[in-house]
Amino acid sequence: NRQLTLATRPQGAPTSENFALIAGEIPSISAGQLLLRTVYLSLDPYMRGRMSDAKSYADPVAIGDAMVGGTVSRVHASNHADYNIGDWVLSFNGWQDYAVSDGEGLIKLDPSIMPPSYALGIMGMPGFTAYMGLLDIGQPKAGETVVVAAATGAVGSVVAQIAKIKGCHVVAIAGGAEKCAYALEKLGVDACIDHKAEDFAQQLADACPQGIDVYYENVGGKVLDAVLPLLNTGARVPVCGLISQYNATELPQGPDRLGQLMGSILVKRMTVKGFIIFDDYAHRYNEFAQAMVPWLQQDKIHYKEQIVDGLAAAPEAFIGLLEGKNFGKLVIRVGQD
Ligand code: NDP
Repeated sequence: NRQLTLATRPQGAPTSENFALIAGEIPSISAGQLLLRTVYLSLDPYMRGRMSDAKSYADPVAIGDAMVGGTVSRVHASNHADYNIGDWVLSFNGWQDYAVSDGEGLIKLDPSIMPPSYALGIMGMPGFTAYMGLLDIGQPKAGETVVVAAATGAVGSVVAQIAKIKGCHVVAIAGGAEKCAYALEKLGVDACIDHKAEDFAQQLADACPQGIDVYYENVGGKVLDAVLPLLNTGARVPVCGLISQYNATELPQGPDRLGQLMGSILVKRMTVKGFIIFDDYAHRYNEFAQAMVPWLQQDKIHYKEQIVDGLAAAPEAFIGLLEGKNFGKLVIRVGQD
């Protein structure tokens, strides 16, 4: 049983030295238990937070423990009445080949309905996050302007498409020409701005002639700087993530603009609300699924996965996720189907 463990805590951006690949015995199971073999492992930005021991909404991974993460697994051996060998389940087994379960928290997946890996993306945590953050906090109305950053990623791509379904003017922000072309052609946004462009702020302003009514915040940093002056009175800002800051070791240089930010919130009477998807919205998963399944079946939502082969490739792929190297929902294929 191979495991990728947290060897050391990163200072700034993680490196491959922060991880260790160790090999051990395949665990055995007792009465009432099942042995799960990981087929797919989800890589997500929140894992950077788990590598750090700074106080957060969830406990850090201990040094020497396997990294945590959502997994799609198959039952390899079963002493559990409800599970047969070969069954597909959504689990939270982390960065490893095998895990023992007593069945608690597992969700059975039906591979005849959609590819099982979708449970880690469009039908899982990122898709659900996009749906709830946009619709419950963002409250977009037809004709309004919605801006979303990291717009070709697991969350942002779904935000952009749901906002289009709701009849909004959607402006995507993404890193590079290839991602922007994808956002325009496949996600159907009205404009896409490359945040690496020198005149990024000006291009964003030009793409939002009516200002911004909903800014779905995934990124922070200079993207938020460019968005802030464009927000309209009554704007809503679901604060989903701040990925540009996850590797930061200190506050950015420059003037303190907290007063300016609070002034904007006051004068423009903005709603700025953070959320942690399963803590806040777990009870509404079925509502999301009932909306998303028909959207997928009717091709109203386009979904892109980036599948990388092999558990050993996970550290490098994860490091790349924090640098924008992923294109679509990043999933590791740990074992064969
Ligand atoms: P993505 O698939 O979008 O991958 C991350 C993307 O972020 C990169 O591809 C890159 O896209 C962009 N990015 C990285 N660094 C920067 C930077 N410095 N400036 C601008 N963009 C950057 O990840 P997810 O969709 O899984 O996650 C998106 C956000 O949602 C994250 O902030 C994550 O933490 C948050 N999240 C929050 C949840 C919650 O419950 N609150 C749940 C799930 C996710 P590009 O190349 O286009 O810049």
